[in-house]
Amino acid sequence: MGNKGTGNESANRNEGTDGLPVSLESCLLDLRQAEETIRQQQRLLYQSEAQHNLLFDSLDEGFCTVEVLFDNADQSIDYRFLKVNGVFEAQTGIENPLGRTMREIAPEHEQYWFEMLGRIALTGKSQRLEHWANALGRFYDIYAFRVGDPMDRQVAILFKDITERKRQEELQAYLLRLNDALRSLSDPIQVQDVVTHLAMKHLGADRCYYCEIEEGNAIIRRDAFRADLPSVANVYPLSDFPILSTVINAGHPFVVFDAHTTELLDDGLRQLCLQTQAISFVDIPIIKDDSPCGILCITCCEPRKWRKEEIELARETAERTWIAVEQARAAEALRESEENYRAIVNQSIAGILKIGLEGNMLFTNDQFCRMLGYEGAELLAMHVNRIVYPEDHERNAAAFHGLVSEGRAYEIEKRFVRKEGAIIWVNNHVSPIFNNKGEVDAAAIVSIDITRQKELERQKDEFIGIASHELKTPITSIKAYGQILAAMIDQSSVPPTFTQLLTKMNAQIDRLIKLIYSLLNTSRIAGNQLTLQLEPIDLNGLLEEHVRQGQLTTSRHRITFIGEKLPSVMADVERMGQVMDNLISNAIKYAPKGGDVIVRAESRGGWVRVSIRDFGVGIPKEAQEKIFDRFYRVNDASAGGTSGIGLGLYICREIISRHQGQMAVESIPDEGSTFYFELPVYTERQ
Ligand code: ADP
Repeated sequence: MGNKGTGNESANRNEGTDGLPVSLESCLLDLRQAEETIRQQQRLLYQSEAQHNLLFDSLDEGFCTVEVLFDNADQSIDYRFLKVNGVFEAQTGIENPLGRTMREIAPEHEQYWFEMLGRIALTGKSQRLEHWANALGRFYDIYAFRVGDPMDRQVAILFKDITERKRQEELQAYLLRLNDALRSLSDPIQVQDVVTHLAMKHLGADRCYYCEIEEGNAIIRRDAFRADLPSVANVYPLSDFPILSTVINAGHPFVVFDAHTTELLDDGLRQLCLQTQAISFVDIPIIKDDSPCGILCITCCEPRKWRKEEIELARETAERTWIAVEQARAAEALRESEENYRAIVNQSIAGILKIGLEGNMLFTNDQFCRMLGYEGAELLAMHVNRIVYPEDHERNAAAFHGLVSEGRAYEIEKRFVRKEGAIIWVNNHVSPIFNNKGEVDAAAIVSIDITRQKELERQKDEFIGIASHELKTPITSIKAYGQILAAMIDQSSVPPTFTQLLTKMNAQIDRLIKLIYSLLNTSRIAGNQLTLQLEPIDLNGLLEEHVRQGQLTTSRHRITFIGEKLPSVMADVERMGQVMDNLISNAIKYAPKGGDVIVRAESRGGWVRVSIRDFGVGIPKEAQEKIFDRFYRVNDASAGGTSGIGLGLYICREIISRHQGQMAVESIPDEGSTFYFELPVYTERQ
């Protein structure tokens, strides 16, 4: 190198024709020139190496050059470190590697690495890969390529420790798999089954199970385990393992690396661990509401140094398992309660209906469908008005409006039209359903078919109507005969008992007539035949007259009238008189000890209000609305067994309501009652 030149050069340097220097000087000159060239090249080489070193040292990736060592059969068996950069040690954990071989440094380094580097050294084919290095406990991203003379079998490796990234990726993938698996499960036992299998596989463990803690027992319902191991599913009283109980109660993970040697176990628990081959384990207690409710256990048959992130993963798994189990339980409980509720609702003898605020039907039970003769699906596609009898629409809509605007529940008797056109009577209890903002969202209706009851009532009314009508004529005649008899008697010629008996008979005939008229009125009201002869009247005169008449019937009561100047009202004089007689006679009857009865009339806005107050037995709260029903009587000994049939107030209220007025009572038991009614003031326009 350098001592050979072109033909021209040799001519310049006085070479002979055979190529030898022609003189010593020229020979020395050549040598000096060659030396100079070498120095120059060394300088260049040095500079380039220094640059390379600088470059590699400034990399944040690890770099090394190794010489791959082969056996006689050209199998790569080891490699020696020739060169490493500054971060090599940080990236591998290997100190002072230069000149040492990998087998010296880490004898258990996997064969895979030797084979891979050997292949590159032999073929020159570079390789890029990500791989786990067990002996170093790290994951690497690697680029390896042959350098220098192939005969030197040197390979340069650029690498990066990606253990953390890999762990994160694996963790994410595991959690995703776990979530995917749990999402579709609704059975708590199945949840435990899936979780334990996934966790066992992911952590490379030999057994995994989820214990539920119930009433001092750890219950293992399902466990995942290596094929050659037995299941440990059973019920274990926690009192048998005090150490376990203490650790669980503290809520910390219970981690054992080696059950043979650890001081964390007492004899009982160690025995159980050895029996079940749980040589190393991680137990994660789940604490809810300050007490343990479950434990996720992951065990290995060999000693194992559990890493921090494995324990963290077990903790995460335990938490998710608990949530999934609880959700599955809640869903199961909800399903069960829904089934119960559905069964109850569908077996109910009452029709049950839910309607939206627009009147669209949202739910119907079987009985409601039977009552209406429709299929459930048909009803759900209909507006409720389609089944309400047209004449009842207005009344129905008014009551429903009160529910929508004020959330007021109500009860209504009305008619429905069945699919084939028949009409049924129902008694509906309608209650509001509120949303979570407290607004009325829908209405729940419990509907009872009262068609049969209505028919019986109609028959009864018909009978009462006919009977009272038929009785009216003979009793009127009897009354006339009684009066004639009384007028004909010569009191001086008959014994006094005779006169007394005749008077009593006439009084009883009067009572009987009153009763018959009450019955007649009732059947007229039911048949909508109660007619009124309306005229504008001054109530004061009428009230005074009836107070006076009332006073004549009692000596133990003092009936007072307090009036004021009243505007006229439109009323039927006879019917209003009937109302006053009834209220005054009740005030007397239900104050058997006597006392004051105060009748008051006053004008209030567009109304005239009349009240009748007594200081008698009063009416219990729960009966105060019912006393206006037909045939209702308060069953109270304090009323002293007063006679009556419970029709008076019913007729009074009907008469008042047909005058467009209203009637009510205020009463305190043992203190007395005030009945009052209000009638609208008469105006010319009426
Ligand atoms: P009757 O008096 O014939 O029983 P009513 O319809 O007039 O029928 O009255 C119904 C019930 O209301 C009575 O049975 C009684 O229990 C109660 N009641 C009516 N008026 C009074 C009153 N002034 N004080 C207490 N209870 C009364």
